[in-house]
Amino acid sequence: MAVSPYWNPKTETLAREDLGRLQGLRLKELVARAWQGSPFHRRAFQQAGVTPEQVQVLKDLERLPFTTREAWMECQKRTPPFGDMLARPLESAVRYHTTSGTTGRTPLRVLDGRADWKWIAECWCYGFHGFGIRPNDRVFFAFSYGTFIGFWGAHYACEKMGCLVLPSGNMTTEGRVALIADMGATVVCATPTYALRLAQEARERGVDLVNGSVQRLILSGEPAGSIPATKRLIEGQWGAKAADTAGMTEIGTIMMFECEKQPGGTHIIEDQVIEEVIDPETGRAVDYGEQGERVVTSFGRGMIPLIRYRTRDLVVKVPHTRCTCGRTFDLYDGGILGRVDDMLLVRGTNVYPRAVEAIVREHAAVDEFQIHLTTVDGIRDEIAVRCEVRVGQEAEWPKVRERLAADLAHAIEGLTIPVVEAPRGSLPRFELKAKRVKDERVVKGAGR
Ligand SMILES: [Zn+2]
Repeated sequence: MAVSPYWNPKTETLAREDLGRLQGLRLKELVARAWQGSPFHRRAFQQAGVTPEQVQVLKDLERLPFTTREAWMECQKRTPPFGDMLARPLESAVRYHTTSGTTGRTPLRVLDGRADWKWIAECWCYGFHGFGIRPNDRVFFAFSYGTFIGFWGAHYACEKMGCLVLPSGNMTTEGRVALIADMGATVVCATPTYALRLAQEARERGVDLVNGSVQRLILSGEPAGSIPATKRLIEGQWGAKAADTAGMTEIGTIMMFECEKQPGGTHIIEDQVIEEVIDPETGRAVDYGEQGERVVTSFGRGMIPLIRYRTRDLVVKVPHTRCTCGRTFDLYDGGILGRVDDMLLVRGTNVYPRAVEAIVREHAAVDEFQIHLTTVDGIRDEIAVRCEVRVGQEAEWPKVRERLAADLAHAIEGLTIPVVEAPRGSLPRFELKAKRVKDERVVKGAGR
C-alpha cells in the first residue's frame, strides 16, 4: 500500500469550514480547561469580562484577551519558580525547559506532563513525515540536549515514527561529521548556521557530503531556513534537500513546516494551533498577504494552556491554495520574517538586548558597552560584549570581566558570550534612544 504524504491525512485535508469547526471545538475545550485549572488565565478572562460559556465557536476567539510574555514572566516572578499559569498539579510534570528572559537574568520556565510530551512529538511528526522522512531513515541531531527545548521534541517524533535516532549532544563538530559519515545518516537536523558549519568542517576533513548518505536537512531555530539564498547554499553544500520548520519554547514544539512541494512558505499545523496575524499596534487582524504579528493559541499542552499569545514574530499569511500538496492548512509566506521587538537570534538562541544590559549594568566598572554580532568564516554567527572600563577601575577589570562572562553564560542558555575590552572612547555614546547592538552578520538571524 502506498504511504500517504500526510502524517494525519484526515485533518491535513479537511475542508476549511470543517477545520474551523474543529478549531472551535478544541478552543472551547481549551478555554474551559484554562478557566478551571489556571489562576493566571481565569484572572485574565475575568479582567476582560469573558466567561467560558461565551466561547463556543472559533469566532469567539476574538473575545479573549491576549497573553504576553511580560505577563507570563511577571507571574513567575510573583510566585516563583513556575508562576500560576499551570493548569495541572506540579506533580504531574515530567519535563523542565527554559528560554532566555526578556529583561533580567531569570529565564522563562516551562513544564510539561506526559501527555504534553506526546503532543509535542506529534506536532513534529507532521513536519518530518510531510517532508518525506520515513521509518527507514537515520536521523542525526546536531543539538546540545540541554534545557533549551530546541530539537528535543523532534528527537521523540523520530522515535515515534520508527526512525533510527543519532544524538550528538556531547560531540565536537569534527566528531559529528565523522558520525554522520560512519552511520550513513540520511537526515540531519540543525540550525541553518550550524548546517553550514558542519559542511565547512566536512570539506576540511575531506568528507564528501554531496555524494554522501544525507538526503534531507530539517532546519530550525533561525529564520534563515526560509531565506532562499541561504537554503540554496546549504542544499548545494550537502547535496540534499532542506526544509524549514519553526517552533518556540512557549508551546514546546513546532507550529509550521515545509512540505515536499516547497511553495516558498511553511504550512501552519492548524488542527493543533490557531495562528492569527494582527497589526502589532492596534491588535486588529490583518488580511491574507499583509505583514503582521503572529498570535498563537495551542491546543495540546495541558500544563500550560497558551491562549492568544503575542509572539512578536512578523509573518505574512497566505491561503493554502498557494501550495499544490493538497493540504488545506494555510501558509506563512517565507516563514518567519523578523521581529516586532529587538530580540536577536544567535545560533538558535534568543538574546534580548535589554536582558544583557540589565546584567552588564550590575557591574560599575563598565563605563559603556556594545553587543557586537559578526559572521566568522562567512558562516558562523558570533556574539561578544565589548566594554569600556571606567577610569580608576582598571585593576578590578580582569575579575569583573570574568564575573560578567559567567553571569551572561548563566542568563543566556546555550551561548558563550565573550566579554572583551574596548579602547576608551571607542564606543558610541547616546543621549536618547541608545543603540548598543552592532549587527554586522551576513545573514542576520532575526531577519533584519
Ligand atoms: Zn504543501
